[in-house]
Amino acid sequence: MAGGNIKNHGKNSPDLESKVNQVFARILKSEKNQNEKMEELLSTASENNIPIHKLESYIDPKSAAAARRHLIGKITGTDLRSIGSSNLDYSLISNRNAENVIGYMQMPLGVAGPILINGEHAKGEFYVPMATTEGALIASVNRGMKAITSSGGAKTIVIKNAMTRAPVFEFDSIAYIPGFLAWIRENHEEIKRAAEATTSHGKLIDVMPFVTGANVWLRFSFDTGDAMGMNMVTIASEAACEYIESNFKKARLVSISGNMCSDKKNSSINLLFGRGKSVIAEAILEEEITRETLKATTEGIHNLNIKKNLMGSTRAGSNNLNGHAANMVAAVFAATGQDIAQVVESSNCFTITELKARKLHISVTMPSIEVGTVGGGSGLPTQKEALSILGASGSGKTKGSNSLKLAEIIASTVLAGELNLLAAQFSRELGRAHNRLGRSKG
Ligand code: NAP
Repeated sequence: MAGGNIKNHGKNSPDLESKVNQVFARILKSEKNQNEKMEELLSTASENNIPIHKLESYIDPKSAAAARRHLIGKITGTDLRSIGSSNLDYSLISNRNAENVIGYMQMPLGVAGPILINGEHAKGEFYVPMATTEGALIASVNRGMKAITSSGGAKTIVIKNAMTRAPVFEFDSIAYIPGFLAWIRENHEEIKRAAEATTSHGKLIDVMPFVTGANVWLRFSFDTGDAMGMNMVTIASEAACEYIESNFKKARLVSISGNMCSDKKNSSINLLFGRGKSVIAEAILEEEITRETLKATTEGIHNLNIKKNLMGSTRAGSNNLNGHAANMVAAVFAATGQDIAQVVESSNCFTITELKARKLHISVTMPSIEVGTVGGGSGLPTQKEALSILGASGSGKTKGSNSLKLAEIIASTVLAGELNLLAAQFSRELGRAHNRLGRSKG
């Protein structure tokens, strides 16, 4: 293989495929060095019109990744030995988590905690795994957790639990819309039956219509158990839409996702109606602990929260009133195999402080934490171990209890990060901490 790309020129015959399989097996078993094996393997693939993304159909996933890595390294003139250094099982990713795989991207993983949580689903002390390259982040959350735990812990509640998909239908005229809305209400049970026939865990909770011109968006909400549920609710919504189109003939489905869901985008709808888990975490801090652990006063933190997170954010035109919720959400998401792009809405957060009898009441209200402990990336080896640290890997004892526990832990981690950031800015040590812990010295 001369380092060029391999193109696909159509489907190979079963005879040829079996011959190629034998050639590949011979190459991989040969005594040649790794470079020679990869060269020969890629040449054979090229000669037989096998595209590099289809190598897994002929050889094991780890060898397929090695061959692609060899090719990409050669084309780009880069040494990819770190990307190829993982011993993890490549067969777990194939047809599930990524395509055209060339290796594993590795990130530092730390823990913050313990944090004491008195939640509905998370109860006890937790060490929280956080994957990040931002120096000072874990240390900062750690200090916030120490202050919260010394103050009796974080109280958490889940006020809503529903994953959404919002298909959009079009009509020839607005004249059909009142009839359509009434029909949707009257046929809720049939729509629910069609949707739930596709899943043993998903349950349709609600259908919320929105109308613009001669178009109707139906925002379907599902209980998705311990799965984050995006694939589950998309498949279930497709079945519901098929039922609607075949029984209300004037409705034409334009898209299964009409963006009022709203997935991986900044939006007001998730702030107002929630998506995934809507969670509140609260802590109450005495003046003494605030001074000792956080080197700040309760009044100082409260004043700073008003000026920064409430007034500053509003003045900046932000609809998110927090300091850095995305920092904690992203680090726990990366560690536990969540869909990283959903950090966008999962970090929606209102950080509120109040002073009552000189005690600082601080809370984070997070309307759209989208997490799962089964499905997606949550079953990959390192991510699964990270979830196990939290006692939240796989299906919970009761329906959805592990994913709800994870959501409460994430909200509590955000609470700790928000508290510590306010304290650090009050005592003017934010820059110093980042200088000490978060700057490349090389
Ligand atoms: P999934 O890996 O596609 O499916 C998880 C499946 O696990 C469920 O459908 C369910 O099967 C089964 N399951 C087993 N035990 C369960 C339990 N205790 N609770 C709930 N389900 C259980 O995961 P997903 O959560 O539906 O979707 C997440 C994936 O979707 C991520 O990889 C994400 O990146 C991706 N994603 C997809 C879209 C999209 O539009 N499709 C958008 C954004 C993200 P049954 O349904 O048969 O019960």
